[in-house]
Amino acid sequence: MKVTFWGAAGGVTGSMHLLESGGKRYLLDCGLNQGRRKDADRKNRELPFAASSIDAVVLSHAHIDHSGNLPTLVKHGFAGPICATPATIDLCNWMLSDTAHIHEKDAEFLNKRREHRKAKGLEDGPVTPLYTMADAERTLPLFQPVPYHSPHCLAPELSYVPYDAGHILGSSCVVLHEASNGARVRLAFSGDVGRPNLPIIRDPEAMPPAEYLIMESTYGGRLHKDVSHVVNKLRDVVVRTARRGGRIIVPAFAVGRTQQLVLMLHQLANRK
Ligand SMILES: [Zn+2]
Repeated sequence: MKVTFWGAAGGVTGSMHLLESGGKRYLLDCGLNQGRRKDADRKNRELPFAASSIDAVVLSHAHIDHSGNLPTLVKHGFAGPICATPATIDLCNWMLSDTAHIHEKDAEFLNKRREHRKAKGLEDGPVTPLYTMADAERTLPLFQPVPYHSPHCLAPELSYVPYDAGHILGSSCVVLHEASNGARVRLAFSGDVGRPNLPIIRDPEAMPPAEYLIMESTYGGRLHKDVSHVVNKLRDVVVRTARRGGRIIVPAFAVGRTQQLVLMLHQLANRK
């Protein structure tokens, strides 16, 4: 078993790890790099391996920094299965098409700006979207549902089991089992891990033992405040702003957070 880290190492976004086992090649996640436009765009476009050389993808959850470069992989020749929980597949149906739409609109905007620059004598090359709606639509049929706790064979000597990561709907930690020549190796991949006592979703499950662990550590150096603290703070902001006749805009950009916020507002309204 050999692992190469191609993203979410030394940074937060672009989760993508190449796993080689038994002469086959797998990706754990295929996420989008989200950062400074030029730098992130180059990383997203230039895959560090031939897409057609990948046999299968195991996807931890639907967030775009974990799933968002799958259409690029397909655009460059990947045609294998993308294994994920049924809820992750449902979310990806919407999210990958939405992301493709954003990339198309982004390219349109940049090309329009290019016309203005050209009129001023400044020449840039034309911009093409990272991928299109058509690429996203060709990605969706490759998804293969693997429910929590059900072992799934990727190859005769390699299988994996997904566990509930408690991060967003359908999010999973996966434990891969490789058995070759009598030797057994277990590799756990945490994906993004949730915290206990969040509304809506279940608490993260304990993972079984493993010899190796790939672990996200985005908030590893920080302590989260209790959820009730967040509710009270939200209540204070809403009440204070409403009293002076103001309006509140909340940039709740992530799937999961948005739903939590809507629920909290609903509960606060119920409590008047
Ligand atoms: Zn996530």
